Amino acid sequence: MKSGAVEAARTILTGLHEVMASRSNAQAKLNTVVEVIGESLNSEVCSVYLLREGMLELFATRGLAQEAVHVTRMAIGEGLVGMIADQIETLNLAEAASHPDFSYRPETGEDKYHSFAGVPIVRRERAVGVLCVQHVEPRRYEEIEIEALQTVAMVLSELIVNADLIDEEGTGAISAQTGPEQLRGLTLVKGLASGVAVYHQPRVTIEQIVAEDTEAERQRVIMAFDKMREQIDRMTSQAEFGLGGEHEEVLATYRMFAYDEGWTRRINEAIDSGLTAEAAIERVQQRTRMRMRQIDDPLLADRMHDLEDLANRLLRIVSGQIGTAASMGLRNDAILIARNLGPAELLEYDRRRLKGVILEEGSLTSHVVIVARAMGIPVLGRVRGLRGVVREGDPLLLDADQGSVAVRPSTGVIEAFETRFAKSRERQAVYAGLRDVLPTTRDGTRIQVMINAGLRDDITNLCMTGADGIGLFRTEFQFLVSATLPQRERQTRLYRDVMEGAGDKPVVFRTVDIGGDKTLPYLRHDDGEGEENPAMGWRALRVALERDGLLKVQARALLEAAAGRTLNVMFPMVAEPWEFDAAKEVFEGQLAYLRKRKKVLPDVIRYGVMLEVPALVEQLDLLAPKISFLSIGTNDLTQFLFAADRSNAKLAERYDWLSPAILRFLRRVVRELDGHNVDIGVCGEMGGRRLEALALLGLGIRRLSITPASVGPIKELLGHIDLGPITAAMEGWLAAPPPNLREVMTAWASERGIPVD
Ligand code: PEP
Ligand code: MG
Repeated sequence: MKSGAVEAARTILTGLHEVMASRSNAQAKLNTVVEVIGESLNSEVCSVYLLREGMLELFATRGLAQEAVHVTRMAIGEGLVGMIADQIETLNLAEAASHPDFSYRPETGEDKYHSFAGVPIVRRERAVGVLCVQHVEPRRYEEIEIEALQTVAMVLSELIVNADLIDEEGTGAISAQTGPEQLRGLTLVKGLASGVAVYHQPRVTIEQIVAEDTEAERQRVIMAFDKMREQIDRMTSQAEFGLGGEHEEVLATYRMFAYDEGWTRRINEAIDSGLTAEAAIERVQQRTRMRMRQIDDPLLADRMHDLEDLANRLLRIVSGQIGTAASMGLRNDAILIARNLGPAELLEYDRRRLKGVILEEGSLTSHVVIVARAMGIPVLGRVRGLRGVVREGDPLLLDADQGSVAVRPSTGVIEAFETRFAKSRERQAVYAGLRDVLPTTRDGTRIQVMINAGLRDDITNLCMTGADGIGLFRTEFQFLVSATLPQRERQTRLYRDVMEGAGDKPVVFRTVDIGGDKTLPYLRHDDGEGEENPAMGWRALRVALERDGLLKVQARALLEAAAGRTLNVMFPMVAEPWEFDAAKEVFEGQLAYLRKRKKVLPDVIRYGVMLEVPALVEQLDLLAPKISFLSIGTNDLTQFLFAADRSNAKLAERYDWLSPAILRFLRRVVRELDGHNVDIGVCGEMGGRRLEALALLGLGIRRLSITPASVGPIKELLGHIDLGPITAAMEGWLAAPPPNLREVMTAWASERGIPVD
């Protein structure tokens, strides 16, 4: 904002401040407002249109015929005024009448005015009115005048709401720009849900727009910038240590914006014109938004998105509204919206109210998605353009089965959704009915169907699904949801509760797998070296063996919890047999310690490993005699086989689990273990998908540990399968792979009436 605009805006704001403080009624205030603005901008006409009953009504004017007040009404999208509200855009025309959308209203007597400039009056990102000025002389308004108008429009929005001139609830009436929309994304967790939109990082509501003390506002902004820069620097250094979740590119952009002097300068100028710090940040953001909207470049749109994120962060700091939506609690059934989330952040939400999640990023095997799947919460990922379309509180119908979300749905869409929802519930009831059915193929082979779990509450899933046990208990979840490192007693208690809850059924405890996308703020990499690839870095057993105090504590907790029972313990990310030996030694050391103290020991200890690192397969023959079981973690295995980061949204759809590369690799593992006394199973997400499970059965896998919601569908699938034909078919497909095995298998299954969708 240049100094002229600053001056003009400040004069107007001072004038408006007085008007707002006066005791006159709302209409009288508005009448004064148009006079103050018109005079300060030296404008012959100044008018305010406000939204009433879905129409833009002329509420006050200086210069136009007074008889037109409350008479002239325009629909959204109609005429220049309607267009400004519809597009939430500024218009600046030297010759209004020559604009194709110009709509002449004789009662206003506006025919003698040539030039026209109008800005939307925005409340919660919706236009609630239009402020415009007109001149007899045909001229374009200068940018500084437009900026002054925009600043004034912000203040007006506050005045209007405070004076109850528009019905805030009634803003739904602006249907032209808030009508139904349909967005598409990638299904990450299937399911249907309805609820209101809740942003994980809510937009800040600006309480006060006009500043009382400009210097104080300036100080507030300086402090907020300092704090924000500190946060960004911290996030960047954490990412460098391999423990930060944010994407590097995004962080680099954040830093660039956070230190951008142009941005701070514009905010300070807006403060100089009389706005509070919050209003100034928002004002600058509005202006940037408008400029960016005119540039059609996806790369820039992404950057804009980053700037929005950052401006919102700055607003949260300056206003003290720093909590996420979780800290405020969910009041209604909600669908959470976020760019991305960590598993711990998701777990902070009230499970009863959280019905669905929509992510702008996200991938099938990122841990937040795994947690959501375990919680039975549908997730749609990679939804672009969310923020431009969905507003806080909008009703949403999430159909993650079909990869779509209906925003502010029409009655027809609601009805269709209800029908699908009812059908889906019927299906769920059918699956629930399979609880006591033993998972057996049609030709009579008993398949072990177990569940993956990680939290104390998950134990209820074992009863509800009738699964054969817990094939993967991710012990690190307790670490993720805890603010500090869980002490041994807490660990023991959890493990004991889980085993007791499982009764006779086995539970396989995986020792902590932290690092990668599972970060713990209280556990830092301390050797001072950065990690470029945390998924392939200092994580899982690598951390546990180096920080062997961590593993010792966990070993003792598990051994004590399993007193008098069978303990199944599994090590993650084993790449070489010696890592297994070293981890087992830690357990044996703790066992000896307990034995010496005459403690009750586990009856049996079964040691196993996860196969996630392809290199292990080269030495499987050496490892096999030492282990009781092997569980294939296809989530990590796939990322390492394809060198494709499992959390990278851009790669989420690139490689298929049904690729010959993966399937041949798995076949090799099964063959390698043939003749060894090793139980083999799959515990990656792949096993919970029906077509993929069919492929695994065809490869000889007979134990699956899957997400609880998949147990019913997989049991149903098993009842339709004969192992002979699928084994033979798989042999054929892998000998001479078709170009698209997924399509071929889908057709094969559908010809045989095998339900795989
Ligand atoms: C896997 O990698 O497949 C696995 C099951 O472990 P996680 O998803 O926890 O890494
Ligand atoms: Mg893994």
